[in-house]
Amino acid sequence: MQTHLLGSPRIGRHRELKKACEQYWSGKTSLNELLETGKNISLQNWKLQQEAGIDLIPCNDFSYYDQVLDMTLSVGAIPERYQEIAARKSASEHDLYFAMARGYQKDDLDITAMEMTKWFDTNYHYIVPEFQKDQPFRLFSQKIITEFISAKQAGVNAKPVIIGPLTYLLLGKEKEEGFDKLDLIHNLLPVYIEILKELENHGAQWIQFDEPFLGLDLTEKAKEIYQSVYSEIRNQFPELKIIVATYFEGLKDNLSLASSLPVDVLHIDLVRSPEQLDEVLNAIPQTLSLSLGIVDGRNIWKNDFERSLGFIEKAVNTIGSDRVFIAPSCSLLHSPFDLDLETNENTLSPEIKQWMAFAKQKIHEVVALKKLAAGKADYQVLQQYAENKKAIDNRKISSLIHNQAVKDRVDITTENDAQRKSPFSMRKENQQNVLQLPLFPTTTIGSFPQTKEVRAWRSKFKKGELTAEQYDDLLKKETERTIRWQEEIGIDVLVHGEFERNDMVEYFGEQLAGFAFTQNGWVQSYGSRCVKPPVIYGDVHRPHPMTVYWSHYAQSLTQKWVKGMLTGPVTILQWSFVRDDQPRSVTCKQIALAIRDEVNDLEKAGIRIIQIDEPAIREGLPLRRSEWQQYLEWAVEAFRISASGVEDTTQIHTHMCYSEFNDIIQNIADMDADVITIECSRSQMELLQAFADFKYPNEIGPGVYDIHSPRVPSKEEMIHLLRKAQAVIPAQQLWVNPDCGLKTRHWDETEKALIAMVKASREAAADF
Ligand code: GLN
Ligand code: ZN
Repeated sequence: MQTHLLGSPRIGRHRELKKACEQYWSGKTSLNELLETGKNISLQNWKLQQEAGIDLIPCNDFSYYDQVLDMTLSVGAIPERYQEIAARKSASEHDLYFAMARGYQKDDLDITAMEMTKWFDTNYHYIVPEFQKDQPFRLFSQKIITEFISAKQAGVNAKPVIIGPLTYLLLGKEKEEGFDKLDLIHNLLPVYIEILKELENHGAQWIQFDEPFLGLDLTEKAKEIYQSVYSEIRNQFPELKIIVATYFEGLKDNLSLASSLPVDVLHIDLVRSPEQLDEVLNAIPQTLSLSLGIVDGRNIWKNDFERSLGFIEKAVNTIGSDRVFIAPSCSLLHSPFDLDLETNENTLSPEIKQWMAFAKQKIHEVVALKKLAAGKADYQVLQQYAENKKAIDNRKISSLIHNQAVKDRVDITTENDAQRKSPFSMRKENQQNVLQLPLFPTTTIGSFPQTKEVRAWRSKFKKGELTAEQYDDLLKKETERTIRWQEEIGIDVLVHGEFERNDMVEYFGEQLAGFAFTQNGWVQSYGSRCVKPPVIYGDVHRPHPMTVYWSHYAQSLTQKWVKGMLTGPVTILQWSFVRDDQPRSVTCKQIALAIRDEVNDLEKAGIRIIQIDEPAIREGLPLRRSEWQQYLEWAVEAFRISASGVEDTTQIHTHMCYSEFNDIIQNIADMDADVITIECSRSQMELLQAFADFKYPNEIGPGVYDIHSPRVPSKEEMIHLLRKAQAVIPAQQLWVNPDCGLKTRHWDETEKALIAMVKASREAAADF
């Protein structure tokens, strides 16, 4: 029996990588300093695993921004627009890399970033590879090889983790018509072979190919290519031990394909799909070992040792211990780093903490499970087992978790509660009578820059260095300044700026019952951005209003409309660590009722426009199509429950980012928000087509500029995008807004961009 990890968290124990990247980007530190930080993080990860006793330690799981972008650079799939940077002698490979990730606006160059999208059904974002017809590939970045060498120098014969060739292609996007990206495999495979050759020359014995697409719906063509690609790799490298890793879903109808690949180890996700174990054990040939992904890489609950040992025992009995590997279900990239850092009992009570495990603890769980299964547990491990059992048992009956009133309210919620009073066509008229908005109304998505100062106030307040009153005063001034500035530049629907919020989910979780928090439970979201998801451990309800104070204050300052700003139930669910002791749908309904209470209270306080953000609705989609409908039913219903307690004249907005809506446009329409704002600029309004084809009846604000990049768009660019939007959506339905909230941007960029945006809207409206 052997233990291994599919990958480690890489942001660093104290988010060192975030800080190092941001300092490098702002020109405050040198590239060498950044590289030093990166190297240290890898070293720490390797050492941690070595000391814990992990048998096979991964390398190349580290990345400065994103592992898919790393692969893109490794195989030299550099889009044309970056060639100038690539050709510059003064620019390093890392400058090129970051330009691709973040865009480049310096010297005489002005280049947009590559697209970003969700990594399967997680809240991690990857940089989408761009493919042209006949896309050439070549070994460009040596990163995979140099990481292997530095692991070797650190005394680890590591297992390089590489995105499998099929998964890499399937993650990419065809940037022109007339070809199928899968056909690029003929150009791509030779580069993979070259990489493997180099790795083998340097002494690599193991390779892990991540092929999560094996858990998804595949075309016949993809299946055939899977066969031929892995056969070719096997032919060329008969000695190399190859692991194919699947995760986030069961193999289902791809089982016979996956188990017939000529590789050494198949990794399966038994957290997401525990029922597949029997079938897989029956299907795999003698030559194939099985890696059991039993420790949840995506949640923070302690592993149930007794249950896991049952899985291991079954596997050992069926295929023999030599062929069994034990691992977390997926890369620990999606887990926070170390529960031991949670030392403040006021933040995370010991009773809840005892139920939890972060990446470091999970590594020890994997090792302990092996020892227990092999009958080699020492006193310490037996002790750990006893504690594990105790924690698992007392969680089942804890009075912290169960609240009968909440369960009763969920039970009596009916379809009626999920229904606005009148259909949209009627509401639209009533709303316009009250709101009196111009054509192409301008608005923003909610947050304004969270400056250093704003963050410093919050941290001082938390440390007790500012009184509640002082903190409140500072936030009020910032809010007022933001309201005045929006008035001044002529935005139509104002926002208060969300300065009081640390994070759009945490802020609500902190005020809802049933949520717990961590101090250091950070998980990478994209690039240097991290999120600290709340932990939903118990039945959820809203003890008191959460946002009324700020929305009411902001509205009191101005004659213009101020939009109330809430996070929707599906997003709160999706971006939290959730209970694994009841269905997600039930937890979601509890949250929906809590948000509904808030929406109703905002209305009572005189707020006429209320936005319920649901950026995560699409990423919550099951990876298999056959399971979509069931999810969409409860997800859309949850949104509607939250939004339907108000009068017709109250305008409900929703917002979503990075959304490809083609296949769920009916469900988006079923949400029946009066206005939806969406991400559109990076795709040049392409994403809007789904709404046009559907003849989406409600109002839409397709983002006219990309807020994920520091680049300031010109007025002309935005007019151009607006015209593109107008070509497919009737003007009366359109709003003008950025792609998403502005909290990560600086004020100077924001000011320039929004002034241009308002001008763009006015110029476009003047045509009517
Ligand atoms: N209202 C939020 C904000 O502006 C929305 C953020 C999001 O969609 N991710 O920050
Ligand atoms: Zn957004």
